[in-house]
Amino acid sequence: MRRLILILGDQLDANSPALTHADPHQDRVWMAEVTEESTHVWSHPQRIALFLAAMRHFRHHLTEQGWTVDYSELDAPENTGSLSFELTRTLEKHRPQHVVLVEPGDHRVRQSLLETCHHLGVPIEFLPDSHFLCSIEDFRRHASERKSLRMEFFYREMRQRHHVLMEDDRPAGGNWNYDSENRKSFGKEGPQNLPSPIHFEPDERTQEVLELVKRRFPNHPGSLDSFAWPVTRRAALARLRNFIEKALPHFGDHQDAMWTGEPYLYHSLISTALNLKLLHPREVIDAAEQAWREGKAPLAATEGFIRQILGWREYVRGIYWLHMPEYLEQNALGADQPLPDFYWTGHTSMHCLSQVIRQTLDTGYAHHIQRLMITGLYALLLGVRPKAVHEWYLAIFVDAVEWVELPNTLGMSQFADGGIMASKPYCASGKYIQRMSNYCRHCPYDPAQKTGPRACPFTTLYWDFLLRHESSFDANPRMKMQLRNLSRLSPDEKAAIHHQAELLRQHPAAQKPQHLSDPD
Ligand code: FAD
Ligand code: SF4
Repeated sequence: MRRLILILGDQLDANSPALTHADPHQDRVWMAEVTEESTHVWSHPQRIALFLAAMRHFRHHLTEQGWTVDYSELDAPENTGSLSFELTRTLEKHRPQHVVLVEPGDHRVRQSLLETCHHLGVPIEFLPDSHFLCSIEDFRRHASERKSLRMEFFYREMRQRHHVLMEDDRPAGGNWNYDSENRKSFGKEGPQNLPSPIHFEPDERTQEVLELVKRRFPNHPGSLDSFAWPVTRRAALARLRNFIEKALPHFGDHQDAMWTGEPYLYHSLISTALNLKLLHPREVIDAAEQAWREGKAPLAATEGFIRQILGWREYVRGIYWLHMPEYLEQNALGADQPLPDFYWTGHTSMHCLSQVIRQTLDTGYAHHIQRLMITGLYALLLGVRPKAVHEWYLAIFVDAVEWVELPNTLGMSQFADGGIMASKPYCASGKYIQRMSNYCRHCPYDPAQKTGPRACPFTTLYWDFLLRHESSFDANPRMKMQLRNLSRLSPDEKAAIHHQAELLRQHPAAQKPQHLSDPD
């Protein structure tokens, strides 16, 4: 055999450069389902099922195209359960002249494949990933030209380079960013006439996978019952079209809002399809821009959506490859608390956390602000070890792959990289959650109270967080206002906050100071 073409579970691109440069008559494709990828973190069953179902559909597509596919199924008796051992078996059997694949998205996987091929003396070639609009080299160049990185400047460069939402050399509408228009809450009435996202009934192939996952991973956290993610390109395109028509026009206004019992709101639910490479980011951006040009979506909504993909998505990938593998160990704030058990069950009296965690266990999904300002914020304020937070995010979200999850968790949400990703920590009290959602209306706590039996744990921990890190944030101009408010607290108030925060840390299960009476 001439070449063995490796297709990893998140590389399901029919136009992959690894395939377009190969010959079905001389080369073979290799794909493997391995237990290791579902157990190195305690993965949500929907996350496992998504990968396996999409891989099996892709195998079907490749075979129809005339490719010979060496495919290890998870429950095949000879499957060793490890990517490296499965590759070893195939290399020993077929002795290819060399191995080719697109750059993996995950540093751990890249190392493992590299070592396996070196060990067996088979040359391995990594091809650039054409599914991103900024190459790793271009991002390195961008980073080397500045003292500190900021997404906004990177994004402007990307808009110009790819001519997205541009009118000649100026941003469409005159502004680069319409963020200030995209922060509305739903007010008292709540969301009206929400579009229902298109769901995909599992076909026979997906059903088989669902049965397999149920059988093999019965104790993993989360439910499979609502599984309806797109696992083929055709379904992914249908989801994209559905979003552009029904939700994009409202995406901007309520991008940051949250509402009890409404997990999806106006979000696109395309991260899984993008991350598996069923959709190309350029086609998503073009579809959104076209909707705006045809007058079907306002500019603020379109720009807000495009910024997530052309800006944040490309930016976090650049940060990941610029700083791995050291990034994984960052802990700039010295956080050392364990992750509270309720993150795996949703059993807590804090309504916002209980809502978001239960929703995530049911669906494998939470939108960005739920991830950043509910589960992420609480872990930040409590002082949870960043690696434990990272492992939870990597496990529990259906769209989780390390290159995108890690910088979002460690950098943006936990400030563990000391400011590489974000210029200040995303820290806020319960009042932010009250403003952006209706969660507090159903909660026994009061977001306005810092101490006492009804104090909102977010609020107590917010002030405690500022107290604990006051000296390290002192020089950060973006923290000035928050620290000024802190300086207005009396020594007695500070002592009471510190005391109540300590009790919260000692009793993470209930997250209710045990000595305090029940809220009325
Ligand atoms: P929409 O809200 O409709 O946004 C459109 C698209 O923009 C998304 O599909 C996604 O591809 C992209 N996008 C939006 N925000 C980001 C961002 N901050 N970084 C990168 N891309 C972004 N996204 C993942 O794909 N996988 C993850 O494992 C992941 N982990 C996260 C962990 C934390 C702590 C946080 C704060 C964010 C994380 N995100 C992750 C980013 C973001 O929350 C999800 O991409 C988004 O919620 C997916 O839902 P959606 O497709 O409905 O997105
Ligand atoms: Fe969450 Fe505090 Fe609001 Fe309760 S009061 S929902 S704990 S922010």
